[in-house]
Amino acid sequence: MNIILLGPPGAGKGTQAQILVEKRGMIQLSTGDMLREAKDSGTEMGKVVAEVMARGDLVTDEIVIGLIREKIQGENGGGFIFDGFPRTLAQADALADLLEETGQTLDAVIELQVDDEVLVRRIVGRAEEAAAAGQPVRADDNEESLKQRLMEYYKKTSPLIGYYYAKGQLTSVDGLGAIDEVSGEIDGKLG
Ligand code: AMP
Repeated sequence: MNIILLGPPGAGKGTQAQILVEKRGMIQLSTGDMLREAKDSGTEMGKVVAEVMARGDLVTDEIVIGLIREKIQGENGGGFIFDGFPRTLAQADALADLLEETGQTLDAVIELQVDDEVLVRRIVGRAEEAAAAGQPVRADDNEESLKQRLMEYYKKTSPLIGYYYAKGQLTSVDGLGAIDEVSGEIDGKLG
């Protein structure tokens, strides 16, 4: 079973993806994690994406589609969880093509619904917790980048909700509850 977790920054996509990995042996494909790795590797691509990410802008479709293309050919385990991908309609179309080429299907798109006030509190809280624990704070977990990430979400990613609804693949989940409540709801939808 291959699924997409869709939602704005701070909606809990990464947290829910990790739970699905543990419970179902699925494989998490987070383009954000892949890009952060590329950034830390010091490659040319890494240098380019570091600045884009810190501003809260989206990295080019070409780069992220390339990252996903590599992973999708590999081990599928209990299925892929696309976490933070696709983020544009062009990425969604590319994903459909890649899945078809590799003889795979997209089985569900789970939209995590959270209101904007909560997102801001969660992300600012995440940065404060990390700082207090002496852990590295994400370069884009500050108020200015967050505003830009939200803007990018509403301009470029939120149209995917309508896109997958029209394809009959969208399932919406209330992302406001406690982590285990949300994961219970996801489990119920996935069966
Ligand atoms: P995330 O960890 O999913 O919040 O992603 C962090 C940042 O990585 C985003 O703000 C973008 O700059 C970049 N990014 C992650 N996934 C994508 C994607 N699918 N398309 C474009 N940019 C992405």
